[in-house]
Amino acid sequence: MGIFIKIELEEDRLTQGLREQLVSVCPVDIFKLEGERVAVRPEQEDECTLCELCLDVAPAGALTIRKLYSNQTLTSRGSKACPEGKNNAIA
Ligand code: SF4
Repeated sequence: MGIFIKIELEEDRLTQGLREQLVSVCPVDIFKLEGERVAVRPEQEDECTLCELCLDVAPAGALTIRKLYSNQTLTSRGSKACPEGKNNAIA
């Protein structure tokens, strides 16, 4: 578990394609595939660079990055990859 960063993911809201995108988009390997599901690696949370790439992949509101040192929260905006734009709703 991170001291500075806490990442929360509503995994059930991800499609299989989004799971794979989430794992591949993060430059510091915060996410990992466990079978067909994706999990946050708690030992990596503090490595988060706050690049926000994952926030454009996860459905709106499904992924939250909490900065424990400032009480600020970043929330996913929805997948740009969704062809129907279903996940692009503003949280
Ligand atoms: S903000 Fe960047 S570094 Fe942090 S979890 Fe998302 S993709 Fe990884």
